[in-house]
Amino acid sequence: MDSPSFCSYIEKYNSIGGNEMNYASVKYYDIANGTGVRTSLFVSGCRNHCKGCFQPETWAFDYGKPFDEKIQEEILKSLEPEYIKGLTILGGDPFEPENQKALVPFLTKVKKQYPNKNIWAFTGYILDVDLKQGGKVYTEYTEEMLKCLDVLVDGPFVEEQKDITLKFKGSKNQRVIDMKVYCERGIISILM
Ligand code: SF4
Repeated sequence: MDSPSFCSYIEKYNSIGGNEMNYASVKYYDIANGTGVRTSLFVSGCRNHCKGCFQPETWAFDYGKPFDEKIQEEILKSLEPEYIKGLTILGGDPFEPENQKALVPFLTKVKKQYPNKNIWAFTGYILDVDLKQGGKVYTEYTEEMLKCLDVLVDGPFVEEQKDITLKFKGSKNQRVIDMKVYCERGIISILM
């Protein structure tokens, strides 16, 4: 089945009253949260409350600043140079339902403007449990959002399984998942 068009996302977005997400920070020229040099957007709001979370201040949905047009344009502009490999979204948790609603139109815009860049996301939720139909944070936006991703690092941070030698993960239970394989074939293919 074809994906809805970019315009249909924008229509839906406008009909729900626009963006109401806050973000904690944006890190430009980031090399820690995905492959290559990237722009990383830390959104506000997380209900996972993992013990030992490294930035509990981002749990509050009203932390930081509104994710408005200005910052969205700045992020889009930051992705322009060829050496920037893509965008990473993390938090907080991008898959909190409120954040999904706000992020889908933006991610769709990124994909349209930069089809050759990749998008990574980090979530404390589990892809094939919480983000599947009927799951804890499954919404009408979840599948659209998952389709925008190239890589998803999933699962809560588990302090007892913390390992500082892991690449792009804080604890051993977390998985770095190839989202193209997941969306096309429904298979969880672990990249690392
Ligand atoms: S999911 Fe991430 S931001 Fe949320 S509590 Fe766990 S480690 Fe912290």
